[in-house]
Amino acid sequence: MHLHDLTIKKFHEGLLKKDFSALEITKEFFDYIEVKDKEIGAYLSLAKDEAFLRAEKADLKIAKDEPMDALSGVPLAIKDNILIDGQPATAASKILENYKAVYDATVIKKLKAVGAVFLGKTNMDEFAMGSSTENSGFKLTKNPYDLERVPGGSSGGSAAAVAAHMAVAAFGSDTGGSIRQPASFCGVVGLKPTYGAVSRHGLIAMASSLDQIGPFTKTVEDAAILFKTIAGKDQFDSTSVETNYNDELLNPKLEDVKKLTVGLPEEYFISGVEPGVIKAVESAINQFKSLGINFKKISLPHTKYALSCYYIIMPAEVSANLARFDGIRYSKIQNPKSKIQNLLELYKRQRSEGFGPEVKRRIILGTFVLSSGYYDAYYAKAQKARALIKKDFDEAFKEVDVILTPVAPTPAFKFGEKTSDPLAMYLSDIFTIPVNLAGLPAISIPVKQATSDMSRVTSHKPLPIGFQLIGKHWREADILGMGMFYERLQI
Ligand code: GLN
Repeated sequence: MHLHDLTIKKFHEGLLKKDFSALEITKEFFDYIEVKDKEIGAYLSLAKDEAFLRAEKADLKIAKDEPMDALSGVPLAIKDNILIDGQPATAASKILENYKAVYDATVIKKLKAVGAVFLGKTNMDEFAMGSSTENSGFKLTKNPYDLERVPGGSSGGSAAAVAAHMAVAAFGSDTGGSIRQPASFCGVVGLKPTYGAVSRHGLIAMASSLDQIGPFTKTVEDAAILFKTIAGKDQFDSTSVETNYNDELLNPKLEDVKKLTVGLPEEYFISGVEPGVIKAVESAINQFKSLGINFKKISLPHTKYALSCYYIIMPAEVSANLARFDGIRYSKIQNPKSKIQNLLELYKRQRSEGFGPEVKRRIILGTFVLSSGYYDAYYAKAQKARALIKKDFDEAFKEVDVILTPVAPTPAFKFGEKTSDPLAMYLSDIFTIPVNLAGLPAISIPVKQATSDMSRVTSHKPLPIGFQLIGKHWREADILGMGMFYERLQI
């Protein structure tokens, strides 16, 4: 079995048929990563010994004919803001360069319980702030489709690892698009669950009212398997909810999917979107029509306020969440004690050196919008705008079951193209951010054959393009179901 062909489903079948052992495949992955990751830069750290031990455990189960979960022995990559006991968790920040996690995130605990294997931790924008992974405090990650281009962000390392076949699947976090946008740029599937469906315990927080953990996979079917495993209420995250996702998630019925009405919001098919992207998304729409799915034009009138609303609420939460980092225990910043006179000076120095420019920009912005005299003008107003954006979706979902949009206005852009203009970078999340503000589930799925003429507008090389399906709260089954039947279409 070639690593390129491995999905969770195929891995599991191969393991059961004894075509290979989990240990063999895990070793193969590390050998391949050693070569390939020199070019891509998806991983920040690897965890060979522990991965081998976990793979051996899976093989032992097979040898003893014990019942096996679909994820037993499956090699995964994990974004570096999700804690795995004993492994580094830097969130790609110098301020956490020396930090090793002392407990497992709830998602990791759940994945360990079903026997998954963790290859290592992946690169990201520092504290998940960014859309290209260029804000990592450590290194660049390249897009496997075109090494001159970014993999997207902030979970760029996880998306690139799956796209370059350096893991069967991966996990990331999504606060404003950080799973869906890199999935679109790298040609893989990325799912952001409903807010509250997955515990955030053990995720290094960015903006707690928006953050969710979700999977990157090669197929929609794999995304459903991983999502079902990690979902559910957790006593350590009071915003998590008891969910009753059933087998419908894994085995959707075509007759149910055909009954869905899909909305196309006029605010998402606008002139700023690259023609190649519109063309690609339209081809996906036509393919769904061939399945018998109905489409309807809708409007989400407050979409135009989403970006400004997000860039008030998110930094406000960031400034609070990042106040805890003093860089004293977990950074490598050297401290010439003689020059530091008092505690305030120490904090100033540690935080100035430990955080990168984008993180500092957001802490300053967040502190400002929360400060007395500005709170009502900015923060309170943004909360009201957020409610209107959510209401738009509530209204739309009275008429339709699912909403289909582009994931991003462009395919993967070049390194440096947007780094000098933060606003240009922020705009790349314009279609993903409203979903987080409303707490909805959404998935990014690669358009079939989008990699030829459609993306040539920006590149001589074919680049992947994703489309986004947004579901009602707790209706991951609808978007996963549509995705699975799209995947099965022969085109
Ligand atoms: N790119 C967006 C930002 O910079 C979203 C980040 C994310 O989802 N973590 O905030």
